[in-house]
Amino acid sequence: MCCSHSIEKDKEERKTLEAFDLSLVKGMKFFDPHVHMTSRTTDDYQAMADAGVVALIEPAFWLGQPRTGLDSFRDYYSSLIGWERFRSSQFGIKHYCTIGLNSREANNEALAEQVMELLPLFVYKDGVVGIGEIGFDDQTAAEEKYYRLQLELAKEAGLPVQIHTPHRDKKRGTQRSMDIALEHGLNPYQVIVDHNNEETVKEVLDRGFWAAFTIYPFTKMGNERMVDIATQYGPERIMINSAADWGISDPLAVPKTAALMKMRGLSDLDIELITYRNAITAFAQSGQIDETDFATSKNIDQSGKFEGNTILRGGQQPRIDKSSIIIS
Ligand SMILES: [Zn+2]
Repeated sequence: MCCSHSIEKDKEERKTLEAFDLSLVKGMKFFDPHVHMTSRTTDDYQAMADAGVVALIEPAFWLGQPRTGLDSFRDYYSSLIGWERFRSSQFGIKHYCTIGLNSREANNEALAEQVMELLPLFVYKDGVVGIGEIGFDDQTAAEEKYYRLQLELAKEAGLPVQIHTPHRDKKRGTQRSMDIALEHGLNPYQVIVDHNNEETVKEVLDRGFWAAFTIYPFTKMGNERMVDIATQYGPERIMINSAADWGISDPLAVPKTAALMKMRGLSDLDIELITYRNAITAFAQSGQIDETDFATSKNIDQSGKFEGNTILRGGQQPRIDKSSIIIS
């Protein structure tokens, strides 16, 4: 009796939730501190801008298949501070990035050695707000070696570190990542530990690190679980991101989760900390984030050019009405 009642109640709540939309958080500003825009479309940029995303961080990662040479890394890093930043600006979104050798490709040691030589040419560039995303994937010896070298680079450059924690054996991988960061003398307040879950969050916060959460659709960390965590732990040193990339992911994960938090009764102040302010506080330690830039990037000229190229295809007019079914 009681159980069938609660199932009914759950169903009711689910229906209410499914009816919610982003109008709940209209007028709020969001910062997505982990999103791979290189693999997303202009529709995604437009939707993010419409939903209130004013700034984002694109961490350097792998491409879904291994790179075969150094030039692929060089061109990728260049695009993160060049073309992709420009593309983002055309939708009024301030684009930052973190630069690093990802854990998967750390396992190709011959190439990894060359990438380490390349990194200093990029980490001091404008708009680079950290070394990332680095850390463990399979937790191999090679991954550990290049993780340690990049922690040293972060210290040398005075940049925050964005840690990718492994999806397999996460708890141990997360602990190890933190142990090693402390061993290298990093201040935990300069280190953002990403892809947390219920198993890792307490220790990450207790040890003074930032705890970032990726909202994954359909699996792992959905946003209902995130709201429970935010309710339990409060907003201090917690941030959320979409980590949207070329896989099944949702570039609106941050505003959607904000809307869900609002429905579930979290205060506007707490929501602002988790979906905007904390990411800025953490990554602004790079000296590279100026919030007043967000407002100025709202003045968009979509006929603007980057090295002679625009986001407009031949003859296109900027900013067409996307809701019309007529494609003109
Ligand atoms: Zn990522």
